[in-house]
Amino acid sequence: MSDNRRLRIAVQKSGRLSKDSIELLKAIGIKLNIRDRLLIAHSTNEDIDLLRVRDDDIPGLVMDGVVDMGFIGENELGEKMLERKAAGKVAEYEVMRRLDYGGCRLSIAVPNEASYTGVQSLEGKRVATTYPFLLERYFKEQNVNAQAVMLTGSVEVAPRAGVAEGICDLVSTGATLEANGLIEKDVIFRSKAVLIKRTGQFSEEKEALIDRLVPRIDGVMQAKE
Ligand code: ATP
Ligand code: ZN
Repeated sequence: MSDNRRLRIAVQKSGRLSKDSIELLKAIGIKLNIRDRLLIAHSTNEDIDLLRVRDDDIPGLVMDGVVDMGFIGENELGEKMLERKAAGKVAEYEVMRRLDYGGCRLSIAVPNEASYTGVQSLEGKRVATTYPFLLERYFKEQNVNAQAVMLTGSVEVAPRAGVAEGICDLVSTGATLEANGLIEKDVIFRSKAVLIKRTGQFSEEKEALIDRLVPRIDGVMQAKE
């Protein structure tokens, strides 16, 4: 790591986790000067730098030790952990806190008219998803031979396009599924945002800073309850 003095925290640059993650950092007293185009944001009152990146990059940045901590959805974290394990890469991290935002579920959905009596109905079929490792783990647990087809976007149109017989995607309200003539059938993973920390040694200063910040997160979450 180039600068071992300042604590590096990765947050999603823009998306569903950005606002809540930044608000949480501000609520625990970290003053931030965020300029929209910049990758790095420096805190003006603590030895902290924020790295603003795509959420997909955050698990790897933490597991490679490029940043010290990160705010990430458990879905993305779980997927990247399985992917790295499969590739023989280090897949270690510590979950510091499970947070009270970013709630969603990863669900299997099929076209309204499809006959579906359980995940066994997908035997021999293709299921489009952005989370092939989580989905394949689920198929294995359920003893189903189905194929996860990786799509990074437009997952919900895959059945109509004839690319897959079902999908496995993140759902919060179900409106997107409904708009695409799909019906949610099985929840395979329930996710929230978490704060994770890299493994390995930390300088005394960083350790002390983390010990000071994390209890404040508990305080902010308790106050909201
Ligand atoms: P990026 O450009 O950073 O890759 P993205 O499009 O992958 O962004 P978002 O849609 O912003 O990601 O979602 C980020 C995370 O927010 C998800 O991985 C998930 O943990 C959480 N989330 C909460 N609710 C939802 C939802 N309804 N749909 C999708 N993700 C949700
Ligand atoms: Zn993403």
